[in-house]
Amino acid sequence: MNTTVISSTADANLADVIQSMIDNHYSCVIIVEDDIPIGIVTERDIVRLMGRFIAKSVHCPMNVSEIMSAPVATVSGTTTLFDALVIATAQKIRHLPVVSPTGQLEGLVTQSDLAKAHFRVYEHQRETIEHSVSLRTQELMQANKQLKSLSLVDALTGLGNRRAMEVDLEHTHSQALRYNRSYSVALFDVDQFKLYNDNYGHKAGDNALRLISEYLLKSIRTCDRLYRYGGEEILLIMPETTLYGALILADRTLSGLADVAIPHEKSSHGILTLSCGVASQVEVNGYNHWEELVDLADRGLYASKNNGRNRSTIIPPEDAVDDNVPRMHGNDL
Ligand code: GH3
Ligand code: MG
Ligand code: MG
Repeated sequence: MNTTVISSTADANLADVIQSMIDNHYSCVIIVEDDIPIGIVTERDIVRLMGRFIAKSVHCPMNVSEIMSAPVATVSGTTTLFDALVIATAQKIRHLPVVSPTGQLEGLVTQSDLAKAHFRVYEHQRETIEHSVSLRTQELMQANKQLKSLSLVDALTGLGNRRAMEVDLEHTHSQALRYNRSYSVALFDVDQFKLYNDNYGHKAGDNALRLISEYLLKSIRTCDRLYRYGGEEILLIMPETTLYGALILADRTLSGLADVAIPHEKSSHGILTLSCGVASQVEVNGYNHWEELVDLADRGLYASKNNGRNRSTIIPPEDAVDDNVPRMHGNDL
C-alpha cells in the first residue's frame, strides 16, 4: 500500500480538495471522520460532477460529501493480495483505502500498486520455477549420465557396447584360462565405409550400420555375442569355439551379408561387404590377456583389407609373431 494518502473531512471545501488533487497529482481523496474512511472522491467522481455541469445543473456543490462515493470499500493491512485483487476487480474500483483493525485510515492501495505487487509475485514465481527447473535439469542430466554408464547396449546398432565387450572378454578370458577352454573372436570391419558415407550421406551410413548389425545378430549362434568395437568395427565372441570353427562361422557370415546385398556403388563389389580377422584362445598355453587375442584378430583384419577385402583371415598362434603367414579365406563375388 501507499502510505502517502490524502484525506479530508466531509465538510471540506470541494474546490480546495480538487485543487489539492491537482497540485499533488492525486487521483483520489479519502473522506474521513475521526480518521475513519466514510467516503472517497475519485477522478471518476469529479468527471461525474463535470457531467452535471455540462448538463447545466444549477446546483454547484460546495462540499466533497456531496460528490463522494460512499460507503467506501476498505481493506486491512493483513488483507492478502489475492483478496484485494478480487475486491478491486469485483467492485470495479481502483482505490482501496487501508484501515487499521479499529477502522482508522492507514494508507491506500491503488490499482497500480496491485498490478506491481502482482507482477512481483509473478516474477518471484517465475524465478522459483526457473530455479527448480534448472535443479531438475541437473538432476536429469546426472540421472541420464548414470543410465548411460549403466547401459550395456550401443544406441545406434543395438549391439553390446564397448564397455560391455571389455567386461565380457575379461570374464570369458579368465574362465578360459582357469578351465583350459578355448574361445575365438572375430573382428569385422565394414569395407570402404567412408566412401559409402561420402556417397549416400552419414544418415544412410548410420542406417547401413543398423542393417548390418541386424543381419549379424540374426546370423550368430545363441551362445555367441556381438559388440560394437568402434565406429564401423564389430567384434564377435564365440565361446567354446576353435580357430577352425570360428573361421567357418566368419566366412558364412560374410557370404550371408552378400545375400542381403546392401548397394554400395562406390565399392568394387557393388554392395556393402565386411572384412574380418579371426583369432582363438587355445585350450592350453593360451594368451594371458584378451587384448593379445583382439590384437591378433586386428592383424588378421588388416591382412584381409590388404588382400582385397570381403574376406576373413586367421593368424594361428604359432604364426602370431610372424606377419607374413596369414591364413586367408576369400569371398569372391
Ligand atoms: P576400409 O575398407 O579400409 O575399412 O575403408 P573405410 O572407408 O571403411 O575405412 P576408414 O577408416 O577410412 O573410414 C571409416 C568410416 O566409417 C569413416 C567414418 O566416418 C565411418 N563411420 C564410423 N562410425 C560411423 C557411424 O556411426 N556412422 C556412420 N555413418 N559412419 C561411421
Ligand atoms: Mg572400414
Ligand atoms: Mg575401421
